[in-house]
Amino acid sequence: MTKTIAVIGAGPGGYVAAIRGAQLGANVILIENREVGGTCLNRGCIPTKTYFRNAEIMSNFKRAAEFGIEVGQFKMDGKALQERKNKVVNTLVSGIEQLISSYKNIEFLDGTGNIIDKNTVSVELKDGTTKEVTVDNIVIATGSKPQMTETKGVDLEGVITSDDLLEMEEIPETLVVVGGGVIGLEFASIYQELGSHVILLASRILKDADKEISRRLTPMLKKQGIEAYLDIRAKEITKEGNKLKVLAKYKEKDEEIEVIGDKVLIASGRGPVFDGLNLDKIGIKYDDKGVIVNEEFETSVPGIYAIGDVNRGVQLAHVASAQGEYVMEKIMGHTPDVNLDIYPNCVFTMTEVAHVGYTEEELKEKQIPYKASKFMFGANGKALSLGEGEGIVKILAGAEDKKVLGVHILGPHANDLIAEGALAMANGLDIHSITRTIHAHPTLSEAFFEATLGIEDKAIHIAPPRKRK
Ligand code: FAD
Repeated sequence: MTKTIAVIGAGPGGYVAAIRGAQLGANVILIENREVGGTCLNRGCIPTKTYFRNAEIMSNFKRAAEFGIEVGQFKMDGKALQERKNKVVNTLVSGIEQLISSYKNIEFLDGTGNIIDKNTVSVELKDGTTKEVTVDNIVIATGSKPQMTETKGVDLEGVITSDDLLEMEEIPETLVVVGGGVIGLEFASIYQELGSHVILLASRILKDADKEISRRLTPMLKKQGIEAYLDIRAKEITKEGNKLKVLAKYKEKDEEIEVIGDKVLIASGRGPVFDGLNLDKIGIKYDDKGVIVNEEFETSVPGIYAIGDVNRGVQLAHVASAQGEYVMEKIMGHTPDVNLDIYPNCVFTMTEVAHVGYTEEELKEKQIPYKASKFMFGANGKALSLGEGEGIVKILAGAEDKKVLGVHILGPHANDLIAEGALAMANGLDIHSITRTIHAHPTLSEAFFEATLGIEDKAIHIAPPRKRK
């Protein structure tokens, strides 16, 4: 008998799940109370990456003289920035809407889904009516929303979240960014290029990245012009005329600083969206980090699944989509063929950061024997012609079997280059599968290739270690 599956939320988790379910023959009811594409398309990945492109162009203008190009006056027009972002977002959202409507077995309901019991979802439609649907399974894909810190004064006008910043036409003269995670760093790096003076207050920089990478990134952010204070926590925000004053205290020393900004961006994490889920009534276990699921993404109520940002796992669009496809294949009786343990992490700072797999610290902690090899972009022809010779590719491979255990890249197009590392790791490949492959010249991928060759001391453009006399 045909299965009927309700998917609540049409972000990259929910809409991808719905399409995969439909491809496998399910009747899917996809429920969304805002825009299709969720946070990712409307308030996350895509808007920030359109801004990132503007920031890159601004950076190119600033550096034009290095390339022998004379440039006159230039500045970012915040209204045009918004308009371009909205155009890109609208194109993608309407593309997804069309894609969804091309599946005759997906019914799209424009409203809020409320779980009544494990087989019933009631939908408050935007036209004011309610529709109740009876289903075999429910997939919760309601995502996440910005979370405020416990810092005093976060309710003051001018203290904003990433959602607010992406709606603002104004480029603040001084932007204080609280938080050194991916979202905080991306906004810091982007707005510094767009014309703001950015002050970054962070207890740590990219806590999940390999320590060598975050250590190398910090001076690059400072060189970009960002006034960065690390190992510090924002304690209190107060009004200072028409500006905002942030009082921050160092974690390890008894010292405080005060910084003044026009806007304060709180980028201290995101929490799950539970609206309409009736978790307590239905008996679905959760905590403040999200819905609790097993390895198959099934909640404590059999037949109800939770995917993407709303469960307690990593908060990445491609991970949400992969979980969505996985769950649908399971429900429809298939065996999913995806390695969910391996996923690339990408950071769009002006010098990009990407990583997949273990960090050196994790390998040491787990006592996994490994060999590390590094290649500097300064010795890569393409990077130098781009004027992007700073950064590093670091490969970690098993000491004996030479399987790729981790790839860490800081440098130009790191976020594209990481795909090769993810491919190797997801398939359990050793470094020979990479070194056997001819990499095109002159490309950035040669930096990855040479780092891999270096595991067996075969890199051509790395001088051999000097022998001690
Ligand atoms: P969401 O995208 O949050 O979608 C959930 C949807 O469910 C929403 O549309 C919501 O309106 C809807 N909903 C909620 N409750 C109900 C209900 N009861 N009924 C009906 N609908 C409901 N990730 C990356 O991989 N790469 C990036 O570059 C990246 N950049 C980011 C930048 C920013 C500023 C932010 C905030 C996030 C970024 N992310 C990025 C994270 C990424 O956006 C999320 O991981 C991803 O959107 C999660 O997808 P999801 O489907 O789980 O949830």
